[in-house]
This record gives sequence, C-alpha cells and structure tokens, in this order.
Amino acid sequence: MNFYNLKHKEEQLSFKEATIKGQGKDKGLFFPEDISKFSPEFLQNLTQLSDEEIAYQVMKDFAGDEIPEAELRKIVAETIAFEIPLKKVTENISVLELFHGPTLAFKDVGARFMSRCLGYFLKNETRKVTVLVATSGDTGGAVANGFYDVDGIEVVILYPKNRVSPVQEKQLTALGKNIHALEVNGSFDDCQALVKQAFSDESLNEKLLLTSANSINVARWLPQQIYYVLALKQWLKTNAENPIICVPSGNFGNICAGILAHHRGLPVEHFIAACNVNDVVPEYLRTQKLEAKETVATISNAMDVGDPSNFVRILELFDQEFNQVKNKLSGYTIDDEETLKTIERVEKDYDYVLDPHGAVAFVALEKYLAENGGKGFFLETAHPVKFPDSVEKATGKSVEIPKSLEELMKQEKFTTEINPNYEELKGFLIGK
Ligand SMILES: *Cc1c(COP(=O)(O)O)cnc(C)c1O
Repeated sequence: MNFYNLKHKEEQLSFKEATIKGQGKDKGLFFPEDISKFSPEFLQNLTQLSDEEIAYQVMKDFAGDEIPEAELRKIVAETIAFEIPLKKVTENISVLELFHGPTLAFKDVGARFMSRCLGYFLKNETRKVTVLVATSGDTGGAVANGFYDVDGIEVVILYPKNRVSPVQEKQLTALGKNIHALEVNGSFDDCQALVKQAFSDESLNEKLLLTSANSINVARWLPQQIYYVLALKQWLKTNAENPIICVPSGNFGNICAGILAHHRGLPVEHFIAACNVNDVVPEYLRTQKLEAKETVATISNAMDVGDPSNFVRILELFDQEFNQVKNKLSGYTIDDEETLKTIERVEKDYDYVLDPHGAVAFVALEKYLAENGGKGFFLETAHPVKFPDSVEKATGKSVEIPKSLEELMKQEKFTTEINPNYEELKGFLIGK
C-alpha cells in the first residue's frame, strides 16, 4: 500500500520505502492512502480466531503486497509471541496488560514488527545499515531487543547518563553484539539533537545507510492496532456492550493505532487520552486550540511530551473535524500527586500494582465512568518494576522482579561514554 506525507500529499511511498525512510519531507508523517474496513466475517468470528490469524488479518492490507504471505505471517507471530491478557480490576474497569514482552513495555510490539520488516527489506542491501535512535528510557530497550542479532543491521542507541532507570539501562547496555549503547553526558534533548544532526549530515549519509526507529515510523505505529483487536477478542467473550478504552498517552502513537482499528470497524464506544501535566491534547479538546508546550518532567516520564507528533494522524482520521474528534475522544490531565495516590489506592483496594503510566490511565477512566457510566479497560503500558521508585514510594512495598529480569540485572553493561558533541558521535559511527 502507498503512504502519503501529511505535509506534502504528493510525496507517496510504498510500505518498504516509508519503513526505511521513517519520515517525509519537512518531517511530515506518513499516512495510509486508504483505510480498508475489517470484513464482517472477521469481526463476527473474532472470538474464534487464533491470535496469529488476527494479527495477520490486521496487517496484511498495509504490508501484504510487499512482504510475501508466509513471511508476513512469521513476522506477526513473532511480534506477539507473549501473552497480552485482559484482566478485571474492578467491577467496571479491566486492564489490558501490555508489559509481558521482552523489555516489559508495550513498545516491544512496534519494535519487534519494525525490526523484522527492516531485516526482510534490507536482505540484499550491500551498504551497512545503521539504526540510530535516542531514548529517554523505554524506546531504547524495545529497539535494542527487537533488533538484537538481526543480520546486516547495526543499532546505535543514545541515552542520557544517569537519567534512565537501572532496569532500562540494563536493557540497553547488556545485549552487546550488534547493539551499541552510547552513554551521553547530557540530557535526552542533547541525545535527540545529536541524532537529528547525524540524519542531516550528507557526508555521513553517503557512507552509511542511516535509518531511524522512532515511534512515528509506520512500521512501529501500525502493528499497535493488533492488541486492540486481541483485547476485543477477550472483551466480547464476557461483555455485551462495547468498551470505553483509556490509553496513557505521550506522543499519541498508541491511541492513534486504536482509533485507526476503530475506523476499520472494531467496536469501541469511546476513547480516552490519559495524560500527565503535559496535556496539549486534553487542552485542545477543551479549547479547540492545538499548541505545543515546553515539556515538564513527571513520574510518568514516557509521556513527557510537549508536542505530540502523532496527533496529526488522529486529526486526519477524523477529517480534521473538531466535532468528530470530540465525539469519540475525551482527555484527562492527571498530576503526579494523584498518580501516586492512585497507585497506593488501587494496590490497597484491588490488590493490583500499577506503574505510573497505568495509574494515570486508571484514574482517567474512573473519572470518565463516574460522569458517563459504561464499562471499559485501560492499557497498562509498562511493568511496575521499570519504575520502582514511584511504585515503592506509593505502596510502601518493594516490587517483585520478574524471573526474566533477574538474569538481565546480573549481566555486565557495555557502553561507550561520549560528550554531547557531534564530532564524537560521528567518529563512533564511522569507526564502528
Ligand atoms: C511510550 C510510552 C507511553 C506513551 O505512548 P505514546 O504512543 O507515545 O502515546 C506510555 N507509557 C509507556 C510506559 C511508554 O513507554
């Protein structure tokens, strides 16, 4: 299928080209040229289909003309090769647990799909391919894990020294092989600025085929639809009414994928964007004005985004009509104090341990249901062990470390320390 650049509609690329290129002219995001509906049989039979079949059906219209069926089936099966359970927390609130992947955050789904597509597309590429990415935490781990040992691809991840959690750091630095972690003496913004400079450095791009794995890439965005459909498969087994779905949101890629699935026919009553104080979108829903803001640091730091890139895709899905957006989407702003109180309360009352991102979503959904009635679920996007400081502060209990992590935490870290200086990054990329 072709994808067009939302800023320059004449720029149209295939799925392969859009995956390799990441973003279009003037940093425009790519968007599918047509959005096929799910067939009535598919929706009727949802509860009977296997997860792998569902995942294939969701993705085939986007990638099926460029990746042969058997290969695409293998890629989607590997993408979701862990459980994605929907569990009841209260009478009216369930949770979709998206943290059972290898790096314990939902970004595993997008990163695994993208890495495998890229591996397939670049099989016959003779130049060395380097995936370059800056991370404030979860993206780096998911990308490292997704691309680990993929033939022909080197991965370079920049992260700010001392500003990611211990688990996040190990996920970036312990793998080795084709995964290179650069520990930058600076902030996340410094990391991002270095990466941007590398992408615009023509002499570097002649030597290396550089590609980005950031969250606006279509190959990371689109597969996120899969777990909304898998959630409905579970939901419909015990519920007659359509769910209200609440998504902890930062860059708005995740919720945008859910809304896309809904546009294709997935039955959803309403969507809620749960934000921390970085609330550009809830503010837009209140005032109809979309204005980027300075980022504020919070305890749900994966949502500290002052200029959510994917929101333009949501507007496109609703034909740029404010009233259409507002009919289907509500927004809530939750501050750190309320987030901590929610973690404490939900552990005490329901014996369920939330991470800060899930807590923002839980309380937003609770507020919506109190005002409007109905039933629904929220997405728990990371395992609480990735944010032990907040969780332990709120509950007074330590977070149990899953078995898979115990091993990882014992491993050595491999990093190269650099200063936030472009020549140092360039030297590393060329010398590698
Ligand atoms: C990335 C991330 C989010 C935000 O997802 P978006 O797609 O950027 O809205 C929420 N929670 C966690 C744990 C994340 O890592």
